[in-house]
Amino acid sequence: APKGTVVTRFAPSPTGFLHIGGARTALFNWLYARGRGGKFLLRVEDTDRARSTQEATDAILNGLGWLGLDWDGEAVSQAAGADRHAEVARAMLEAGTAYKCFSTQEEIEAFREAARADGRSTLFRSPWRDADPATHPDAPYAIRVKAPREGETVIDDQVQGRVTVKNDQLDDMIVLRSDGTPTYMLAVVVDDHDMGVTHIVRGDDHLMNAARQGLIYRAMGWDEPVMAHIPLIHGEDGKKLSKRHGALGVEEYAAMGYPAQAMRNYLARLGWSHGDDEVFTTEQAIEWFDLDGIGKSPARLDFKKLDHVSGQH
Ligand code: GLU
Repeated sequence: APKGTVVTRFAPSPTGFLHIGGARTALFNWLYARGRGGKFLLRVEDTDRARSTQEATDAILNGLGWLGLDWDGEAVSQAAGADRHAEVARAMLEAGTAYKCFSTQEEIEAFREAARADGRSTLFRSPWRDADPATHPDAPYAIRVKAPREGETVIDDQVQGRVTVKNDQLDDMIVLRSDGTPTYMLAVVVDDHDMGVTHIVRGDDHLMNAARQGLIYRAMGWDEPVMAHIPLIHGEDGKKLSKRHGALGVEEYAAMGYPAQAMRNYLARLGWSHGDDEVFTTEQAIEWFDLDGIGKSPARLDFKKLDHVSGQH
C-alpha cells in the first residue's frame, strides 16, 4: 500500500461461527479504514489445523457478508504462509536476534516441575542462549527470540494508554518449532508486516501478546503498527460473555430478521460512542468513528438497544 494509507485487518481463527465480539472487532477495523480511504483486509488464522474448519471459515465470511463488511482483495490463509514465516525465523537467527535452542520438551517439563515444587518461577531460560555454536549438537532445535532481560517493554496503546511489562516476565519465546513449523506469534507479526497493516484493533485479551509480538518487530527492525486493544464485551449481568447469555452468533440475528444496518449500529455502540448519538447511519459511523471514542471499560450487551435501533421489533 502507498505510504500514508491506512490498512486494517480482521484476523479471525476459524474455530467457530462469527460471534458478537468478533463482529464488533471486524466492524471497528472496517469503519476505521473506510473513513480514511484505507484498506480493510481479511486474514483467516487457520494455523491450528486441528481446530480450524472450512465450515467455520464459511460461517465467518457469510457473517461478514451479511453485515456488509466488505474486505479488500482475497481472504488470506495464514497457514499458506508457513514457508515465509520460517524464512523470517531464519533471518532472525542470521542476524543474531534469535538463537537455536536444543532443549527437549522433556527437559523443559522437568525444569518446570522442579521449579513448581520449589516455588520458583517456571519461566524457562534456555541454556543455549549464549552457547558457543561449536558446542551445538547435531539434533533438532527450536528457534527462540532473544528477549531483553532487564528494563521494561512499553506498549503505547490507543485505548489502554501506556502499558508497561517488566522484561523479566518475558521469556525467549519460540518462533519456529523443532519440527520446522512456525508459531502463531511469529505468523501474526510476519503477516501483519507483509500485508502492510498500519493499525491493529483487536480484543484486549491480546494485550500481553502485543508485548511479545513487539520482540519480533524489534528483532526484524520493522515498524510496529498502531495498536488499539478494546475491552471485551460483557453480558447484561456484567459477566464475561458466554453461551448462557443467549444468542451470540451474528447469523442468529440475521435469522431473526434484524436488518444488517441495525446490527451495525448496535455493534458500533458496543464500546464506542459519539456523543449521545444512539441511532445513526453507516455513513455517519464511517465519518465519526475514531479510536479515541473507544471506552476503557467493558461494553455490556443490551438487546433492548438492538430493538431500539432496528425500530421494527
Ligand atoms: N486470531 C486471533 C483471534 O481470533 C486474532 C489475532 C489478532 O487479531 O492479532 O483471537
